Parts: sequence; structure tokens; C-alpha cells
Amino acid sequence: MSFSSSGLCDSIENRLRYIKNAIPPTVKVLAVSKNNSAETIRYFSNIGQISFGENRVQEALSKQELLVDLINLDWHFIGRIQSNKVRKIVINFNTIHSVSNLSLVTELQRISIEEQREPDILLQIKLSSDPNKVGFTSKELLKNWHILASLKPLNLIGLMIIVPLVASLKKRRKLFADCRKLIQILDLQKTSMGMSNDWREAVVEGSNYVRVGSSLFGNIIPK
Ligand SMILES: *Cc1c(COP(=O)(O)O)cnc(C)c1O
Repeated sequence: MSFSSSGLCDSIENRLRYIKNAIPPTVKVLAVSKNNSAETIRYFSNIGQISFGENRVQEALSKQELLVDLINLDWHFIGRIQSNKVRKIVINFNTIHSVSNLSLVTELQRISIEEQREPDILLQIKLSSDPNKVGFTSKELLKNWHILASLKPLNLIGLMIIVPLVASLKKRRKLFADCRKLIQILDLQKTSMGMSNDWREAVVEGSNYVRVGSSLFGNIIPK
């Protein structure tokens, strides 16, 4: 397999195969398709990648509209959730990874009841002080666990973490390991952790969903 100077191997097929070969089959790869076209998503689905992560509601919905014929696509919302977008997210995504505070939880619950949906959700957590990151601290999780443990009709399946970009790989591994420990303490099933430049470390520490964008799609200049 050849790699370009940017560290990317040569084709979408090879990049996908490279990641799939490097992780256990139990880890799900989310192709983070933000800033990429519906046609590119269609191409991925033709080669067997059906799970996609999007972080902007409008962008995702316009692509979903162009892909309605692909009924088995599995859409994950991974971006910041604005409360006025909750309904669209509940209706159009199977899994919501980025539920970052209690009022969003309540709003998701209310709207899921109204829409008769039972979305899988992950709570976004913040295990290091990073002013740019939202999310529950482990203290907040434990303090509110009596609420969070029974969120019907939401299916709380796990925790999601975005580690600080400035953290060393060693520090990131430590944060991934801490996230894994928390799901064990809370008796949850899934961790969503690892991106293009740290999915290997996340998988070693027990990630269930790696969210990989640029190293699958190539380096895209954001719109
Ligand atoms: C963009 C994004 C990713 C993917 O990032 P890459 O570094 O391009 O792999 C993963 N998770 C979230 C929440 C994102 O917004």
C-alpha cells in the first residue's frame, strides 16, 4: 500500500481497508462525512461503509435527502446540539453521540416521546479542563446519575469523548482509559472515542466507535 506525503494511503478503498484491518471487528468505524458530498457518501456505501457521522444538522439533512434511496445508511450525530435542532436530530439520526448537558437530555427525552422515537444516545464527557470542550464532568455524571440512569424512551448506551488536540498521545490514552473505566462503573456498553490522529490509541483503550474523518476522506478544506 502506498502512502502520500500527507500520510494518506492512495484511495478511499485502501484507506478504509487499512483502518478496518487495524481494528477488531467489534469496533465500529464512523466515517465522519462532514464537508464531504452526498456522492462521496454514496461511494463509501457502495464499498460497504454504511455508518456516517455528521456534525451539522442542515448539511446532514440535505445529504440525507439526496441519499434516500440508500435505506440502510446508519446516521450518527456527533456535533454540538442546538436546542432548536433537537427535533430534526431525533427524527433523522439513529444515534446521538454529543449529548453534553442535562437540559439537552431533558429536551431530547421530551421530543423523543412526542415523535415516538427511541434514539440511542451517548453522553459527551469532559475529563480534562479544556475551555473549548463541552460535556459532563465525571462529578456531574455521578451526581445526576439517578436522572441519567432512567431516560426512557432514550437508550443511554455509553459515553463519548473528544480529547484536547493539544494533549500528547500518552495523555490522550489516559483520558480514553478513564472514559472506559467510567462506562464500567456506570454499567454502560459503549465508548465513542478516537479520531483520525488517535484512533489507534482509542482502540487499544477499548473504544467501540472510532469517528474518523480526514484520514478516510482526505484532507478537505472546510467550507
Ligand atoms: C470532525 C470530527 C471528527 C473527525 O475528525 P478527524 O480528525 O477528521 O478524523 C470526529 N469527531 C467529531 C466530534 C468531529 O467533529
